[in-house]
Amino acid sequence: MKVLKFGGTSVGSAQRMKDVSKLITSDGEPKLVVLSAMSGTTNTLVEISDYLYKKNPEGANTVINQLEQKYLAHIDELYATDKWRERTEQFLKEEFAYLRSMTKTLFTSFEEKVILAQGEIISTNMVTNYLQEQGIKAVLLSALDMVRTDKNAEPDFNYIREKTLAQLAANPDYQIYITQGFICRNAYGEIDNLLRGGSDYTACLLGAAIEAEEIQIWTDIDGMHNNDPRIVEGTEPVRQLYFEEAAELAYFGAKILHPTCIQPAKFAGVPVRLLNTMDPSAPGTIINNRMHRGTIKAVAAKDNITCIGIQSSRMLLAHGFLRKVFEIFETYKTSIDMIATSEVGVSVTIDNTTNLRAIVDELKKYGTVTVDDRMCIVCVVGDLSTQNVGFETIATDALKQIPVRMISYGGSQHNISFVVAEADKKRTLQALQNTLFTYNDHIRRPS
Ligand code: ADP
Ligand code: ASP
Ligand code: MG
Repeated sequence: MKVLKFGGTSVGSAQRMKDVSKLITSDGEPKLVVLSAMSGTTNTLVEISDYLYKKNPEGANTVINQLEQKYLAHIDELYATDKWRERTEQFLKEEFAYLRSMTKTLFTSFEEKVILAQGEIISTNMVTNYLQEQGIKAVLLSALDMVRTDKNAEPDFNYIREKTLAQLAANPDYQIYITQGFICRNAYGEIDNLLRGGSDYTACLLGAAIEAEEIQIWTDIDGMHNNDPRIVEGTEPVRQLYFEEAAELAYFGAKILHPTCIQPAKFAGVPVRLLNTMDPSAPGTIINNRMHRGTIKAVAAKDNITCIGIQSSRMLLAHGFLRKVFEIFETYKTSIDMIATSEVGVSVTIDNTTNLRAIVDELKKYGTVTVDDRMCIVCVVGDLSTQNVGFETIATDALKQIPVRMISYGGSQHNISFVVAEADKKRTLQALQNTLFTYNDHIRRPS
């Protein structure tokens, strides 16, 4: 069985829901389909929570009313019969009454997660109702019964596998199994989520759990582009990526994929295909276990990076210095993305600055500390093994006009990363695009 995930834009209107339904049923094959909330909904639910955190139930109710009107307006267009219109209208009314009830209680992060979960709960009910109205054997399986995180907020894979297989076995003979992306329970049984963009992660976890033939991520673009199409001119789709390459691009900011979603697919060896709902016949991108030698595939950038430098003459020839530095980050549960060292200093990057002040205080025991915020990591991904001579030089040469704070090469076979100021991000990405993909005949273009 294949697992197909459709993002917010792909289910963003009644017509899009109809298109998706056609797409998943036309070949008659059974499928597990993961849906996001309709586009914009999760942002609106975040806004509602924000009003409630600020103790402004009136503001929250205004936004809830607007959202309800938007949803009710889809009903006439989506359903052909009064029976399914009434059934869905009733469902939506109950959903929005539930959201309103949240404005009357004490508001904590627990209630916030319950609110954020409603977008996927609504979209999956609407599509399942539509499929059933069309006479398709479709069933809605709740992600809350299948996906759970552990005490470290990481997916509990054994639980997910066991529960997903059990749910499928308990509901045999359906053609389409629909479930929610993004939402899950945590180790305490509470409603939680896999962080923004998490529907991709759900699809890959479920695909790995059932050892799917393929995981398909359907979105609004024809696959992974070789650079960020929102800010760079002349980007093109990449037709194939090795699992590690895709994982690095996702982690380092390619928004088309949730940062950690490739890991479960990679471990299970299930290929991931990125496809375009607006142009279903476009080839998209296949992510699999094949590594093409001698090609640079793509560039991505991760924002909100803080660089911390620790300079110390005591580091010279001293053993145990790096351990002490890393222990401080570990104590404050702050992970390090990039690192560069010399005889007299070390620089690291972090993206979680919750404990920055405490970390800097402790680091001062070991050296002179500098902090540069508003930086970004720009990551060039492809065959960057040491045998592939000269590719790192081309990437570095592209940035000859740009102040680079850190460079990391050799950490993996697949990337070279640069830290630059966020203000220089656009021209950095464009310079790399021009040098690596547009005007350079030395770089073999990926097939
Ligand atoms: P969905 O709602 O379907 O999950 P997303 O908005 O999360 O869709 O991801 C798709 C968007 O990712 C594209 O519309 C595009 O603007 C953006 N994007 C950023 N980097 C890339 C890239 N390298 N390749 C393709 N799309 C990218
Ligand atoms: N609806 C969630 C979000 O907007 C999850 C997703 O779309 O992947 O972040
Ligand atoms: Mg997404």
